[in-house]
Amino acid sequence: QSPGSKKEERSEMPVSKNAETVLERRYLIRDESGKVTETVEGLFHRVAGSIAGADKPYTGGASTEALEKEFYEAMTNLEFLPNSPTLMNAGRPLGQLSACFVLPVADSMEDIFEAVKQAALIHKSGGGTGFSFSRLRPCGSAVKSTGGVASGPISFMRVFNMATEAVKQGGTRRGANMGILRVDHPDILEFIDCKKNNADITNFNISVGITEEFMAAVIADGEYDLVDPSTKKVVGSLGAKMVYDKIVEGAWRNGEPGIIFLDRLNRDNVVPGQGPIESTNPCGEQPLLPYESCNLGSINLVKMLKQSKNGCEVDWEKLEKTVRTAVHFLDNVIDVNKYPLDKIDETTKATRKIGLGVMGFADMLLLRGISYNSDEGVAAAREIMSFINRVGHEASEELAQQRGAFPLFEESILKDGAARRNSTVTTIAPTGTLSIIAGCSSGVEPVFAYVFIRNVMDGTELIEVNPVLKQLLEERGLYSDELMRRISKEGTIAHIEEIPEDIRRVFVCAHDVTPEYHVKMQAAFQEYTDNAVSKTVNFGHTATLEDVSQVYMLAYRLGCKGVTIYRDGSRDSQVLNIGKVN
Ligand code: ADP
Repeated sequence: QSPGSKKEERSEMPVSKNAETVLERRYLIRDESGKVTETVEGLFHRVAGSIAGADKPYTGGASTEALEKEFYEAMTNLEFLPNSPTLMNAGRPLGQLSACFVLPVADSMEDIFEAVKQAALIHKSGGGTGFSFSRLRPCGSAVKSTGGVASGPISFMRVFNMATEAVKQGGTRRGANMGILRVDHPDILEFIDCKKNNADITNFNISVGITEEFMAAVIADGEYDLVDPSTKKVVGSLGAKMVYDKIVEGAWRNGEPGIIFLDRLNRDNVVPGQGPIESTNPCGEQPLLPYESCNLGSINLVKMLKQSKNGCEVDWEKLEKTVRTAVHFLDNVIDVNKYPLDKIDETTKATRKIGLGVMGFADMLLLRGISYNSDEGVAAAREIMSFINRVGHEASEELAQQRGAFPLFEESILKDGAARRNSTVTTIAPTGTLSIIAGCSSGVEPVFAYVFIRNVMDGTELIEVNPVLKQLLEERGLYSDELMRRISKEGTIAHIEEIPEDIRRVFVCAHDVTPEYHVKMQAAFQEYTDNAVSKTVNFGHTATLEDVSQVYMLAYRLGCKGVTIYRDGSRDSQVLNIGKVN
């Protein structure tokens, strides 16, 4: 195939060079010699056809051509994209379509290594896994069958980490894990520090599972009990404030551990009779029961705008239509999906969770002239997410009328309301790869930087500028390569005086946004999201422990389900980023 013909085939799709590179490296089908045999349009035809096909059993086998076209257009117009495993595997033999899984880790050698194996199979198929290690007996306790002593949760986390390391060599993307330990586990202090060294346990994000009881003890500056999970006996106590301070110090040091509020995850557990929620997926946005999986998808908010005489505004009609298409799509994914284990198939289909979210939120604010770092920005978040959540639930109710409610509906906490096809509908994912494909800002994060300069091999510079900023500067006759170099060097446009104040106020980057507004934004999205919100609160390098502590308390007060923070320069590289841009 000549380079010329390649170009022609792709010209229909408005994807950037970066997007093409990402799709070509990991997503397009290759033959045995490694040669790419699929076009970008071919990928979207494959996915649309496969997912639309799931309608057949519900429509008496009627043609799904119109639906396939609806799905194809939503994706190729970059209005909606499903999570990476769906793009990679739909319509192919592997057929594993979900990004998120949670596996149980029970307290026996057989169960632990069974979970290692199950995780390996999931990673091979492009999914990420979350685990709670809270059920493992603490380090030093007795092992009856051998008379030896247990090595504890952290030593087993290292085994999962090594297995992930080995699997990533052969899979489509490097595996990612979430490791959770309850704050009342006797090994909690060792857990908090287990990623102190940046080179340790690199295939895990870790979070301390916080309870309401613990938070009350922190606030009262009291003690709380440590419980051995195997005997259920209280085996000690710790000063809550001391433990809290250590968590804060770890997060300040290198972003690990994060925290999740376990009682809040369980307050929203739709089927508490099935047992408690112990963990989320790797990036924290999807709480799941053991053996449950969830597929995600995101609407590109940049494409949900229209010009009016007052400037740029949300096209609510288009957004409504896109939400309905997306919910239909994600519900179909549950049926088409080939699950890595029968148990996961069963558990997933009992609750039929889907996770519809957004990307390009920050770009959308720029286009509307709203600053992310403002109450107006937070209000815009509430307005858009409450709409998506409401329409998403309505769409799921309509599907229930045609296809039946999720099987556990009658025993769920939703049973007194309208029957729904999906026990959860909304989730805010990080959209690490999806946002590159769609060419927009990721998830609900602020724009990280407006200008990137890449050195290309022959020594020339490639200047990449945020398209919204570029257009605006060109319109006002302010654009120059020299100015872009300065922005790239400074990292922000906040202090560049020749850029007018009205632009500088709106074009804030992640580090111009105060930690307080990062949290307020997360909380605003959480308020209208069934599952959780993936969000990193960025701090400047000089932030103090007290700054971090205040953000944790604010997140707790505002109803967030967890917090992840990152202080500039506190780690050389971040596990998920590396995996995703490759
Ligand atoms: P994408 O943009 O590729 O669809 P996201 O960045 O939105 O993915 O991440 C969503 C979820 O996908 C994560 O929380 C995690 O469960 C899973 N995931 C992301 N990256 C990886 C990876 N490298 N390996 C395995 N799972 C991953």
